[in-house]
Amino acid sequence: MKNLPRVLVVEDEPAIAELVSVNLRHNGFQPVWAEDGVAAQRELDAVLPDVILLDWMLPGQSGLALARKWRGDGRTRSVPILMLTARGDEPDKVAGLDAGADDYITKPFSTQELLARIRAVLRRRAPEQLGDTVTVGELVLDAAAHRLAWRGRALKIGPTEFKLLHYLMRHPERVHSRSQLLDKVWGDHVFIEERTVDVHVKRLREALGGAGAMIETVRGAGYRLAAPSFATGAAS
Ligand code: CA
Repeated sequence: MKNLPRVLVVEDEPAIAELVSVNLRHNGFQPVWAEDGVAAQRELDAVLPDVILLDWMLPGQSGLALARKWRGDGRTRSVPILMLTARGDEPDKVAGLDAGADDYITKPFSTQELLARIRAVLRRRAPEQLGDTVTVGELVLDAAAHRLAWRGRALKIGPTEFKLLHYLMRHPERVHSRSQLLDKVWGDHVFIEERTVDVHVKRLREALGGAGAMIETVRGAGYRLAAPSFATGAAS
């Protein structure tokens, strides 16, 4: 029998944790509940989940601090994080994405929305079946091994940025609008705003370091990956 996807639910309110867990269990997931960052860390040290549902407001370390910590840790770096927030305002969502969350969901949410988002982050994480290694300029991406290198040096990159870069590298020298990227990279973008693309492009550039300039912003149109040999230096 196939293993059920394991979902670590980090939530301090028992009623919400219980409701979420029951719904996950009824929909083919294996929920594990942790009431705070300490309990969550214990679970992560024992078994890596397939996805983390992380509440923003927690006693002790906040969800934001935990997301940042887990993104910075080699063991947990590639586990997708879906943040649960009671606040709906944009700066907080962006802060969550900046801290390393792959997506966020605002409370109160419907079960259907929660399940759709979880499935979307799991799909995004699924290894690409297309090809193995893509090279653009001195950037080399190995999709099968989930490795990225620039000028022979390995780069650390989050799962969503990896998928975004993989898509851009397969279609270099072409302008992609935000909605095209949402469609091709995120796939199920019913709940994702175009602004999300900008946040991930920013993170991608940071992850690329010296190669970050290869991702060009095309004003009013979108983004383009330019190989250095073609770059004119006129990109914004
Ligand atoms: Ca809470």
